[in-house]
Amino acid sequence: MKRRNFIKAGVAGIATPIFLSENNNMKRNKNNPIVISTWNHGMAANEASIKVLEQNGSALDAVEQGVRVTEADAENQSVGLGGRPDSEGNVTLDACIMDSNGNAGSVGFLQNIKHPISVARKVMEKTNHVMLAGKGALKFAIENGFSEEDLLTEKSKKGWLEWKKDNNIKDTWGPNDDHDTITSLAQDKDGNLAGACTTSGLAYKLHGRVGDSPIIGAGMYVDNEIGAAGATGVGELVMKTCGSFLVVELMRQGFSAMEACTEAVNRIIKQEGNKTKLQVGYIALGKDGSIGYASIQKGFQYALYKNGNNKLFDVKSIF
Ligand code: ASP
Repeated sequence: MKRRNFIKAGVAGIATPIFLSENNNMKRNKNNPIVISTWNHGMAANEASIKVLEQNGSALDAVEQGVRVTEADAENQSVGLGGRPDSEGNVTLDACIMDSNGNAGSVGFLQNIKHPISVARKVMEKTNHVMLAGKGALKFAIENGFSEEDLLTEKSKKGWLEWKKDNNIKDTWGPNDDHDTITSLAQDKDGNLAGACTTSGLAYKLHGRVGDSPIIGAGMYVDNEIGAAGATGVGELVMKTCGSFLVVELMRQGFSAMEACTEAVNRIIKQEGNKTKLQVGYIALGKDGSIGYASIQKGFQYALYKNGNNKLFDVKSIF
């Protein structure tokens, strides 16, 4: 089957817009690092990543340092400190990281640790496992020098108490805008790729819920031969379609980064129906420095650092 026909077959009944933009033509100049991150908080994260990359640091160090900025930002209510809690008032965090050698580490349902991304990196580097969760992840973090702290800020507590007045503790992850994971993908001066993804997950989720963000291949995936991809939005939809892995595999088959992201969101629309109000967004970074992005609903943004400029862009959504 020809590639173009394959795209059509994959999204029967749904128009398949192929988005072109000034960024899509970007190819990598040698020694020219690139960082792409989700949402407007990606701007500050990119700034921290750039410092690492411009000093010949690795893509892995860059993405970790970048998303740590978002994790530490108490005003940001969707990642790390100050994240919106679950339905019972607990801030529970998910994160994963992946390097250019295919190594990966992740933590799920981690509480009281401000920098889950760095715990995920320790899991990658110090254990033979990929993922630690819950109390075990917390124990591992403490044993590795991380300190426990209360992550529920007054602002997030207030929002939760308001939410509780009108909601009971049932499955609450309906369409809401209260979640904006940071996923960051970077290419260093050597051309190597890495990715990081960290979140407090869906606001007021059921206690114990783990989203896509710590799942390698769902929330984020890196293949240093092909490219990297990452997700934000309703994690259940991303998990059910192995979203980030799908984007990278489509790129392996010859899709551009942009076409791959578009196909991955269309896959979700096909599953959920044309009228879905749920949001998922993808970003991708090809080995050749090309970038891709797509989202189901309006409002998704990505921050891109390339050729010395760090800029925020709106994504034209499918709906
Ligand atoms: N993907 C995250 C989750 O489902 C939330 C988000 O990105 O907005 O936990």
